[in-house]
Parts: sequence; C-alpha cells; structure tokens
Amino acid sequence: MSKYDFDLFVIGAGSGGVRSARLAAQLGQRVGVAEESKPGGTCVVRGCVPKKYLVYGAEYGAAIEGAQKYGWSVGEVSFDWAALRDSIQTEVDRLSGIYATILEKNGATLFRERAEFVDKHTVKLVSSGKEVTAKTILIAVGGRPWMPEIKGYEHAIMSDDAFLLDSLPERVLIIGGGYIACEFAGIFAGMGVKTVQAYRGSRLLNGFDPEVRVEAGVLQENNGIDTRYNISPKEIKKTTGGYIVTFDDGSKIGTDLVFMATGRKAHTKGLGLENAGVKVDESGAVKVDKYSKTSVSNIYAVGDVTNRVNLTPVAIREGVAFVETVFKDNKTAYDHTQIASAVFTRPPIGVVGYTEPEARQKFKDDVTVYTTSFRPMKNVLVGKSQKCFMKLITQGEDEVVIGIHIVGDDSPEIIQALGICVKAGVTKAQFDSTCAVHPTLAEEIVTLKPREPNKTTVVS
Ligand code: NDP
Repeated sequence: MSKYDFDLFVIGAGSGGVRSARLAAQLGQRVGVAEESKPGGTCVVRGCVPKKYLVYGAEYGAAIEGAQKYGWSVGEVSFDWAALRDSIQTEVDRLSGIYATILEKNGATLFRERAEFVDKHTVKLVSSGKEVTAKTILIAVGGRPWMPEIKGYEHAIMSDDAFLLDSLPERVLIIGGGYIACEFAGIFAGMGVKTVQAYRGSRLLNGFDPEVRVEAGVLQENNGIDTRYNISPKEIKKTTGGYIVTFDDGSKIGTDLVFMATGRKAHTKGLGLENAGVKVDESGAVKVDKYSKTSVSNIYAVGDVTNRVNLTPVAIREGVAFVETVFKDNKTAYDHTQIASAVFTRPPIGVVGYTEPEARQKFKDDVTVYTTSFRPMKNVLVGKSQKCFMKLITQGEDEVVIGIHIVGDDSPEIIQALGICVKAGVTKAQFDSTCAVHPTLAEEIVTLKPREPNKTTVVS
C-alpha cells in the first residue's frame, strides 16, 4: 500500500492537466485533480473555444452584407451582443461539465478548489484546508493575461473580461499586436465597434514571417480597423465620456473601452512552488527538462505554465508524453518543432514550419521561396479587395518543404493537412505531382512558382 493519498495529483484541470489525469487514471493510477475555476482551463473557458465562437459571430455581419451580392434580399439586421455572449457561455458550461465528467468517469477525484504546495509531496486544498499527498505531482495551472502597470491600468480590461462584457462599446482601443490583439480587433470590428489597434512595433504578429506580418496589417485595415504602429501606452485617464489613452509619442486616443492584449504569463504566483523547491524562470514559468520534469524529481509541469509553445494541442501532447514517461516506463519527449498554428483574424492565418528569416539564418542560400497572392473567387462577386497570400519555403536540392504560410479563408483547416506534409518531409516535387482540387483556394499550393529573384521582399 502506497504511503501517499494519490499516485498522481494534478493541479489545474485545463487541456494538459485533464488529458494527463485521464490517461493516468485509465492505467489504474489513483489520481486527484484540483481546479479553482471551471474545469476546462483557458482553452474551453476563456480562450480558444469562446473566442472562435465570437469570430464566427463577427463573420456573420460580413456574410449578410455579401449575401445581397449573391442574390439574397436581406431585411433590416441588428446584432445582439448579449444573446451571443450568453449562448457562448451556455456552451462553455456544457463543455466544462464534460471535462469534469471525463475525470470522474475515469475514476479521478476532482477537488473544485485551489491547491498550493506545502512540500514536494503535499498540497493544501485552500478552501477546505485539507492536505493531500501524492507520489507524483503535475503542475498544469496554465497562464493568465498580463498587462504593464502603466498609470491608470486598472481602467483596462484583458481577454478574460472580454467574453463577459455587459454590452458592446461604441469604440474600443486594443493595445498589442499579438494573437489576442489581432483576433479581438477582428471580432469587435466585425460586430460594428469602431476599433483602433495600437501596437508598439512596426508590423503586427511579431515572430511570424515578415510577409505574413504585412498581410496581417492589410487585412486588419480591410476590416475597417484603424491600426496605429510604433506607439506604447503610457497612461489611461477616465473621462466623463470614456477614456483617453496617452502614448509615448505624445499622441492620445479617446475610446469607450481599453483592452490590453499585451501577453500572458505563467500562473505560478502564490502556488507555493518555493515550498517544494520547484524552480521558475524570470517570467515565473516553471523550468522543465524535455520530459517536462521540474527541478524536483517527482514534480512535472505541462502546458502554458512552462511557457514553451503556448497552445492547447501542445499542452495535450506534453501531457501524453508525461504519462508515457512516468506511468508507462517509456521515456517520451514531445517534439516541439514544426507545430502548425492559426491566428483567427478575418480572414485567418495558418502557418507551419520555418519563417523566411529563420530558414535563411539556418540554411543560408540553400532556400527557395515560392509565393502567390490572388483574390479568392468568393470575394470577386462581393467586390472585396481582400487577397489570399501563400508562401512556401523549401530547403536543399531536393527542395524539402520546411515552411508554409497562408493568409486566407480556411487557412487553419488547410494548414492542419499541410502540417502533415511538413512533418513528413515532403518535397516541392511531391506537392507539384499532386493534382489540384478545382476550384479551391488551396489548389494554389500545388502550382506555386518561385518568387522572382529580383522581387523585393520584406526580410526582417
Ligand atoms: P503575444 O505575446 O502574442 O502578444 C503580446 C503583444 O503585446 C505583443 O504584440 C507585444 O509586443 C505587446 N506588448 C507586450 N508588452 C507590452 C507593453 N509593455 N506595452 C505595449 N505592448 C506590449 O500574447 P497574446 O496575449 O496575444 O497571446 C498569448 C499567447 O497565447 C500566444 O503567444 C499564443 O501562444 C497563445 N494564443 C494562441 C492563439 C491561437 O492559437 N489562435 C490565440 C490566442 C493566444 P511585441 O510584439 O513587441 O513583443
């Protein structure tokens, strides 16, 4: 009989935590899970899922407009924010319930309260005051939105709040140029809110391929978003009619809602990691090795709390690898390369593999770049100028495809399939030998021509 209450105790019932707990419980391990909020974590409760529903909601506006060009007569239309918000929350609650059920059905014990470390084998359940022990502990507490504490920062909202707004503002100012800022700017603008997006850099989506970054700026503007670059907020002042935000260049923007989308940080504050000896980096993220083991041999961490690649499917894969390593005696490290991802702007962006600067840095001149830009046929009848952009990067004489970047409708769906090709090391010749599916947007990926050598491009 084990001297511990549990074989595994998981702190956090998000994507990584629940997958790990379920798999370990299915192997017959005695598993406990603590969750201080709704089960499901960021993805289900205040991230991917409700965000995607908001994007769908925003897209209907443009679809209704376009419908008339496709022969439909459309009467007076209006948008009811509260109706959409509430139906999304109902769905969030349903999914959260499924997460709890998955745990319970597989024999794990779910504690609906916060847990903090007492020592390396003991956690305290904060509301009940109960202490439980476990042979192995998994930290899967995720991240939380973060904002710089500029003067008046308390007037701003962050992404968690955005899902629950009482009403839509007439004007919104979104600060940031990353995933969340770009996606929410598209959502608000699509719902008719006068949207300004202010970013401290010169191109949105830092870290993405430079040409994709240019396209991201274009699509935001095509959606009516007023994008301002090279400005950082310094102060938020409440006025009688809303807020005035002052920037470092002295400019001021008036708005009804200030939304800081300035990043996320690991949610480790107050977790008592020091009681267990678990080391964190300067941003507060838990340090782990390739097997997700922390500085303490019986404590592991997966997902955003480790700040590796902060995406739901990655947390899940890290959780699977953790269970293989610890409970199946099969040391498994999740491979964090060539992970496809998407930004749900309107249209969205789908990417996998190297950006051009990354490829050129690693492979120098041994890189060939193929690009195309065209107006998708769906946009022609409605008179929309928004183009689709595609970029494919190959390496070596064999021209192995090492990067694909698409800005256009359905690109997240397309990139999921193309991610398999990149992971499998498929060559450009194999792409070209694949027959096109016509008429589609995706067919262009099998007929790409090299970018003209003298064509100027953005390289940084
Ligand atoms: P990001 O790191 O993507 O973006 C943060 C933005 O805030 C950047 O533009 C950054 O500028 C800016 N910023 C940071 N600090 C300041 C500051 N002090 N003043 C002004 N601007 C500042 O974070 P997000 O919150 O958008 O997203 C967090 C993570 O969540 C993502 O990296 C991604 O992993 C995940 N996510 C994934 C989604 C998806 O898969 N579709 C959707 C949403 C989130 P700079 O670029 O100059 O650093």
